[in-house]
Amino acid sequence: MTTPNKKILFLPGDGIGPEVMRQVARLIEWLEKRHVATFTVTEGLVGGAAYEKHGVALTDETMAAALEVDAVMFGAVGGPQWDTLPFAVRPERGLLRLRKEMELFANLRPAMVFDALVEASTLKPEVVQGLNIMILRELTGGVYFGEPRGIETLPDGSRRGVNTQVYTTSEIHRVARVGFELARKRHHRVCSVEKANVMESGVLWREEVQKLHDAEYPDVELSHMYADNCAMQLVRNPKQFDVIVTDNLFGDLLSDCAAMLTGSLGMLPSASLGGADSSGNRKALYEPVHGSAPDIAGKNLANPLACILSFAMLLRYSFDMGTEADIVEKAVENALAHGIRTGDILQPGTDQVSTVQMGDAVLHEMDRLSTS
Ligand code: NAD
Repeated sequence: MTTPNKKILFLPGDGIGPEVMRQVARLIEWLEKRHVATFTVTEGLVGGAAYEKHGVALTDETMAAALEVDAVMFGAVGGPQWDTLPFAVRPERGLLRLRKEMELFANLRPAMVFDALVEASTLKPEVVQGLNIMILRELTGGVYFGEPRGIETLPDGSRRGVNTQVYTTSEIHRVARVGFELARKRHHRVCSVEKANVMESGVLWREEVQKLHDAEYPDVELSHMYADNCAMQLVRNPKQFDVIVTDNLFGDLLSDCAAMLTGSLGMLPSASLGGADSSGNRKALYEPVHGSAPDIAGKNLANPLACILSFAMLLRYSFDMGTEADIVEKAVENALAHGIRTGDILQPGTDQVSTVQMGDAVLHEMDRLSTS
């Protein structure tokens, strides 16, 4: 059955961004050809590409377009040719502006280990085989934004640096709510992570997550863990987790730690979600975790799977197309199981393919899955 038209803004950006995003465009064509859904895809410039044409990393028009669509699909920004630009027009300002104006407070970073790539992890296969956890990081509050902040010179001439960890009840509730909702679609378990043993903001975090749970999500199993223990548990026994919800600082560290359990940057998707409107729709931006990889850009070498898996998240979270998201993820798994690899995930006995050929392989598997 065809579902209503869905609006997506494509922002391919710089370096390998456009190459990996082209493979996502092919998946959209595939879905449209099979009358699964119709999409209206518009495209804009961001990062260095926008700077070259307009002198800024994101124009007001592109920002307005991002606020108007159902979902933004983002490639990557940056490159050495823009490294010396003033901070205000640097490529990453484009992404920061999108996050800020779309109020994307919830950052979803799944860490999944595909069976075929289990050897790519630095951990023992039995520790990571079948791993599928979700780290949910609060993205717009906490110590990265708290006031007061700055560096001051004290009367004795020494200097003092200050940052402030600050969270309000509503900031904690809105991200915890996303965590509980995610858990309901997964294995019904949330682990809330802070440092309530040494930080008042952590005490508040723990109390408020518990309150929200008791009032609205008693069907989800909630546990609490200190962030330092969580870091240890992630490398000791990561499969104990389902959804981890945590603040901006701890989420920054723990999501990178969890990412490396999977062993490869070219495989990591992410989503950033904003608040729900009256009909339950959220502003959302989907992007691979990797950067613009200038060293391999334009060579048809990049692994498009992180971007493709980000698109699967888009289908699942923005359009409630869980069946199609499953097909995309399964197609990726099957392509890997057949030994098809881009250079970054090459192993003995597997075949190195180009970016486009990896796209071909995923589409081929999607064909097979939809006819079987
Ligand atoms: P990077 O992620 O671009 O690359 C790190 C290494 O991983 C490189 O060797 C690269 O070739 C490889 N790699 C990354 N993605 C790959 C893929 N899909 N397939 C195969 N190999 C891949 O990080 P970096 O080198 O630190 O940064 C390069 C540029 O990207 C910088 O300008 C940086 O500011 C920017 N950056 C942007 C984002 C973003 O847009 N969200 C994130 C990180 C870095």
